[in-house]
Amino acid sequence: MNLAELSSVLAAEPKFRYAQINKALFQDYISAWDEASNLPKNLRDKLTAACPLEIEAQVFKTAGDSRSIKALITLADGEAIETVLIRQHGSQSKASPDVSGRNTVCVSSQVGCPLGCAFCATGAAGFRRNLTAEEIVEQVIFWARFLIMGMGEPFLNYAEFIKAVKFLNNPETLNIGARRLSVSTVGLTEGIKRLSGEKIQMNLAISLHAPNDALRRDLIPVAQKYPLREIFRAVDDYIRKTGRRVMFEYLMIKGVNDRDQEAEELAELMKKPLYLVNLIPYNATGKFRPSDRARIDAFKKILDKQGVPATVRLSFGAAIGAACGQLRGKLKKLNPSG
Ligand code: SAH
Ligand code: SF4
Repeated sequence: MNLAELSSVLAAEPKFRYAQINKALFQDYISAWDEASNLPKNLRDKLTAACPLEIEAQVFKTAGDSRSIKALITLADGEAIETVLIRQHGSQSKASPDVSGRNTVCVSSQVGCPLGCAFCATGAAGFRRNLTAEEIVEQVIFWARFLIMGMGEPFLNYAEFIKAVKFLNNPETLNIGARRLSVSTVGLTEGIKRLSGEKIQMNLAISLHAPNDALRRDLIPVAQKYPLREIFRAVDDYIRKTGRRVMFEYLMIKGVNDRDQEAEELAELMKKPLYLVNLIPYNATGKFRPSDRARIDAFKKILDKQGVPATVRLSFGAAIGAACGQLRGKLKKLNPSG
């Protein structure tokens, strides 16, 4: 897809074409200009030549998890990024995407990631480049719908990230409510601060993964620069300014961060209004192993007892290797199409 040329083609057209084209692209989700039958043929031809709408992608499914589908999108310069669709409910029909808000999309913000967290396949593969706002939006359009996560650290690419969010939120384009958009950061405080100042009320998630700085530094190299104290200060300020809840993501990695002791430590940190914990079953990618289900339950019980609200994320990624960066790394092609 290449929308960059759109404004130059439209400059010569009457104003009302903008509204028609926005609707066709971002509400009807056309994938070829000829589908926009309310546009004159010569304009459709011009647009087809100047800004093709095709998105080059391979779609992967597995028998193990029919709710998740992942795609590897090839960008204009040949780089590949991944994006995942998780269907909570809804029909299998591709022709009638379920738009009722029960689908989730994980969207990449960078090709790779320079932060190299010890457990993350994206980090292991290194960093190639930032995505443009258009490339971020394109992933959502590709699924014809919704969220923000995927590959890379969005706050290292703040300008394009926020531009993409505003585009997704804009009533004239995709009109996805801010409450349905979430961003996950490994805890870059300057990004949290910038987000506090934005008008847009999207959800913020912090990848905590450890209840103390020593363990966190072992897992997340950039934690050297961002101690927990600083992160919580930025988060508290964000909550004061926005009144919104903040989700703390905690990967459950066997024998690394999943003992009772860590649960107790985590509970102490999380005893604040509007803090929520999401325990995430780890998707094995490298040297680490996922915690057993019983261990996750025991960990959660400790949080419950301390009055800390915690949820356990369904392990939607495991069956298809949908975790951060795994797809680009390898994986057998199961059902390529598109
Ligand atoms: N850089 C941002 C956003 C991208 S990673 C961040 O770190 O928050 C998105 C989420 O996937 C993060 O919470 C990350 O910790 C998690 N993740 C990374 N590797 C994973 C794995 N192997 N299994 C499960 N979740 C993983
Ligand atoms: Fe980057 Fe997030 Fe992966 Fe860490 S977990 S390497 S910050 S994408």
